[in-house]
Amino acid sequence: MGGMLSGIKVAMLGGDAREVILLEELLRQGAEIKVAGLGELPRQDGCTICEDPADAVEGADVIILPVPGIKGEGLIYAPRARRPLYFSQEVAAAIPAGTPVLVGVARPPLKEMAAAGGWLLVETAEMDEMAILNSIPTAEGAIMLAMQEMPITIHGCEALVLGLGRTGFTLARMLDGIGARVTVIDRGAPDRARAYVEGWPAFPFSELAAAVARADVIFNTVPAPVLTRDVLSRTKPEVLIIDLASNPGGTDFNAAADLKRRAMLAPGLPGKVAPQTAGKILARIYPALILKCLGRL
Ligand code: NAP
Repeated sequence: MGGMLSGIKVAMLGGDAREVILLEELLRQGAEIKVAGLGELPRQDGCTICEDPADAVEGADVIILPVPGIKGEGLIYAPRARRPLYFSQEVAAAIPAGTPVLVGVARPPLKEMAAAGGWLLVETAEMDEMAILNSIPTAEGAIMLAMQEMPITIHGCEALVLGLGRTGFTLARMLDGIGARVTVIDRGAPDRARAYVEGWPAFPFSELAAAVARADVIFNTVPAPVLTRDVLSRTKPEVLIIDLASNPGGTDFNAAADLKRRAMLAPGLPGKVAPQTAGKILARIYPALILKCLGRL
């Protein structure tokens, strides 16, 4: 089959519904794929199903790991697999230096293996294009949680967004769109200026304690400890805190429990609330990324 990935050998290890959509797109673009741990798949030209990840990576030009990557002890995220799937030393040894290894989020053990093996490790969740597109299902998921958990409407509520980065901006826009009274906290004057353009009051972190006292719901996107015990003690007793920042979030959850504030860490929303959209985002970004990593773009 022709296509811009024609002749490129790809190994896919683990994944969920998102990677199934990605696999279909890569096949459509002509890649030859060996896949392990993606469960039952329809027979498709160019796709070989392997039981063992080591067989899948043998001879591959590119390795694709699932968005959540690999947990401790080398356990690959593979909820569709019949049995646990491991990224063993044998698998690592079969990947030559220079091979692109694409993963959403790489934990330290994978980073160490990549450095030792000389692989080109690409953390796709951090890429601007990916993060901006993923901000849509993330923001929708965060608002869904707020609707489920609050006894009041989003419309008319005081919504505080911490961090006006890729996720925070999309979230603030959506909240505004459904009638929330949005306030933003951001450390950067340019981002606060952007908030001003949008009509949202915006303050630096020195104003955080005063801002949280007015909030019905707080969405945190800052991956640093911002909602400390002291800050939490200034919130309304009925406040809802939805922490979107990567594990462990930016909230002191022990303090929140002590103070009887409702606070939840909400990781991995794109894959949970909109797996099909999240899969289409991978399918949109990975083909060109593969070509770029192989120096063919
Ligand atoms: P981003 O564009 O980098 O935005 C992060 C924001 O936090 C920026 O406003 C940044 O300010 C600010 N920030 C970072 N460190 C800070 C610090 N020490 N003090 C004060 N402000 C700080 O990132 P993003 O793509 O929006 O993602 C935000 C977080 O959400 C990340 O942890 C990401 O992994 C996570 N995430 C979660 C989900 C989910 O499903 N829960 C989905 C996507 C992303 P500057 O611009 O000044 O650096």
